[in-house]
Amino acid sequence: MKISNIRISRIQIPLVTPFKTSLRTADQVDDILVRVETDEGLAGYGEAPPTAVITGDTLGSITHAIEAFIAPSLIGMDLLNLDGIMNRLASCIQKNTSAKAAVDMAIYDLYARMLNLPLYQVLGGGSDRVETDLTISVDTVSKMVEDSLKAVENGFGILKVKVGKEGLKDIERISRIREAVGSAVKLRVDANQGWNAKEAVRIIGALEDKGLDIELVEQPVSAHDLEGMKFVTAHTYTPVLADESVFSPEDAITIIKERAADLINIKLMKTGGIYQALKICQIAEIYGVECMMGCMLESKLSVSAGAHLCGAKGIITRADLDGPGLCRYDPYQGGPVFEGGKITLNHTPGLGISHVPGFE
Ligand code: MG
Repeated sequence: MKISNIRISRIQIPLVTPFKTSLRTADQVDDILVRVETDEGLAGYGEAPPTAVITGDTLGSITHAIEAFIAPSLIGMDLLNLDGIMNRLASCIQKNTSAKAAVDMAIYDLYARMLNLPLYQVLGGGSDRVETDLTISVDTVSKMVEDSLKAVENGFGILKVKVGKEGLKDIERISRIREAVGSAVKLRVDANQGWNAKEAVRIIGALEDKGLDIELVEQPVSAHDLEGMKFVTAHTYTPVLADESVFSPEDAITIIKERAADLINIKLMKTGGIYQALKICQIAEIYGVECMMGCMLESKLSVSAGAHLCGAKGIITRADLDGPGLCRYDPYQGGPVFEGGKITLNHTPGLGISHVPGFE
C-alpha cells in the first residue's frame, strides 16, 4: 500500500473561554488539518496548530512545509516501510515540528487502520483510559477561582494553573484556588518560562511552606536557561517538569543527564510526531524519568494522537490533554471519548475519527 496523496485543510473552533498564558492569548483553535491517502483508498488524519511563540510554526509555514517539502518526499513510499517514511519525514526539512507532527500522526493513523487495530495497541498496548487535567488560564484571582470551581464541577479532578506573569502575586492565586477547590483536587502549576531562577525558588518555596500540595511546577524559567532550571530543581522539593526546554530526544538526554528537571513534558508538536516521541519514551524508561503527555491549543484530532501514545506507554504517567475540553464544540465523529477529565480511547482502528471536516 503506497502513499498516493497528502491534502491540507483548515479548521477554526471557538474556545469556551480565552486561553491565556504568560506567553500569549488566543480565543479560538485555528489549525491545519492533513489527510494522507493511499493507492488502496485508505486515509489517515492529522492536525497542527500554529504555536508561533513556542515552536515558531505558523499557518503559512506549516502549509508550505507540507506542500513543498514533506508531500513530495513521501508520496510513492510504501506504508509498510514505516521506518523509512519516518526517517525521510525527519530529514526532508529541518525544524517545522508541527508540520511533521501532523503528517506523522496521519501516517500512524493509517498504519493502525491498515493493521485494523486502535493506535494505542500498535504503540504498546498499555491502557485505554487516560486522565487529563484542565488548564486554568492566567487572569484575575477571582476569575481563576471561578474557572477552577467550574472545572471541578465539570468533572476535572486535576487542574493546571497558568502563572508566571506577576511574580509573587502567583502565590496568592494558587492559595485562593487551593482554598476554593479543597484538598482532593490535584494542582499543577505552569509558569511558561515566566520566572527567573531565584524568583522561582522563592515562589515554589512559599507554596511548599504554605502546604498547598502542588503536584509539580512546569517550566519555571526560560527554555534555554538550563542552568537556571537546574538551580530550581536542586533548591525545591516540588518536582520540576521541563516543557519548552525539551523538543527533541537529544534535548531529553541533556535535561536528564544534567538533572535539570525531574519530569519531561512530551508534546507531538515539539517532537515532530509520534516516532520521535517514542524515542523520548525510551530514553525516559532507561533513566526512570516519568513523562507527561501534553498538547498545544489543539482540537480533538491531534489530541487523540497524544492520548493514544499516552495510553500506550507506562512511562507517561500524566496527561495534559485538555484541548477538546477548551473547544466550544467537537466537529469530528468517532475517536476517543473526552468526558470531564476522563478520556476513553476508541477500540476502532487508528485514531478512530471517521468524519473530518474539509475533505469531503
Ligand atoms: Mg507548559
